[in-house]
Amino acid sequence: MTEKRNILFVGDPHGDFDPVISAVKKYQPEAVILLGDYDLKKPLQDYIQEIIGKTKIWWIPGNHDFEPPEHHHNLFTSQLAGQNLHLNVVEIAGLRIAGLGGIFLGRVWYPPYSPKWRSKKHFLQVSSLHNESSELSLKYQSAIWHDEWAQLKKLKADILVTHEAPKSHKHGFIAIDQLAEAMGVKQVFHGHLHEHYTAKIRKGIKVVGVRNAKVVDLLGVEV
Ligand SMILES: [Zn+2]
Repeated sequence: MTEKRNILFVGDPHGDFDPVISAVKKYQPEAVILLGDYDLKKPLQDYIQEIIGKTKIWWIPGNHDFEPPEHHHNLFTSQLAGQNLHLNVVEIAGLRIAGLGGIFLGRVWYPPYSPKWRSKKHFLQVSSLHNESSELSLKYQSAIWHDEWAQLKKLKADILVTHEAPKSHKHGFIAIDQLAEAMGVKQVFHGHLHEHYTAKIRKGIKVVGVRNAKVVDLLGVEV
């Protein structure tokens, strides 16, 4: 059994990284996982310099990490750019952790409704027919795309971290429950809604909502 504070999960910092810095100093976890919405006015490493090298730092993007472009730049070109868990499964402290960042956007896919586009490629092909930009805007980059979700769904993991909530929350989405179930995870940790709670969804999967800037352990307890 992994020690309960081997991995810590951090809710939407929105510029406040003090709680995660204190928690790392106090508990010395093997890894911390940031659940999105950083509001970075400078590169990510500048906020968390004190804990870089003391623990492994992983993250997923939230909806606030694409606009304005400076927020996007300060995350996606930071020293920690390679630690993005979005659409990946990585072994962290002996557990397979899957990540899904971003949000459901009406113009891309808003479950349980059908996706508007099959893929980013499909969207760009149609846009180019109308002489529109051949690049995906940051807004569209912040979306959860159906084909990428479907690809992730084929993988297996122990824990899923997301920005959006599953149906355990009234503002959650069934597509997160479906993803968790298909991947065989035991737990889901999510941010975005600034609420701390634990709940169970189908297959006995435990969901932990993490408050803004707050830190929880593997049992979902705030530290
Ligand atoms: Zn958010």
